[in-house]
Amino acid sequence: MPGGSIVVRVLILTEVDLPSEFPRWVEHYLGNMVTVQVRKTDFEGLKSQFRDVRRGQVRADELLDYLEPRVRNYEGFDKVVLIINDDGYVRGLNFVFGVARIEGSLAVVFTKRLVGDANIYYQRILKEVLHELGHAFGLEHCSNPRCVMYFSNTLEDTDNKGPGFCTVCSEKLSRKLRFLQGTSRTKAV
Ligand SMILES: [Zn+2]
Ligand SMILES: [Zn+2]
Repeated sequence: MPGGSIVVRVLILTEVDLPSEFPRWVEHYLGNMVTVQVRKTDFEGLKSQFRDVRRGQVRADELLDYLEPRVRNYEGFDKVVLIINDDGYVRGLNFVFGVARIEGSLAVVFTKRLVGDANIYYQRILKEVLHELGHAFGLEHCSNPRCVMYFSNTLEDTDNKGPGFCTVCSEKLSRKLRFLQGTSRTKAV
């Protein structure tokens, strides 16, 4: 490997069928500093476990609390992304497009409110995946409405931003990724 650096690995588990190029898009916008693997799955069990029956939505914060410690270093992946075909919310908000903690190991994206024609749907999913992964890699929200790290209050915000990171955020991101490449504890067994 060039410079002896360790590859940062991202696993995307998705309920939604994604275009075959999707992992390449994510890699591209992360500066080709990660490798992305996609696996199709379903989250029926997880969704019923964290379903708020009264609201008909998934408790995203509780799901994150529960799952995050369990996916840490899962199969040697640095970050795990769930793409859930449902609607999520956290305490204090009517809904969220996704959740992740700063420097967390898990990012979750909810697709129910992202639906549009195929092209725009995948673009929205891509932006939300990049946004939540940005948090997981240590980035905060950005005040630039064109930057993918801008907080989306509405679908319009999502459509107006990204999928790219602004100059400030992409510099921060490559610093974080270079650091991870140096410290990633990929098992050599
Ligand atoms: Zn955010
Ligand atoms: Zn930015």
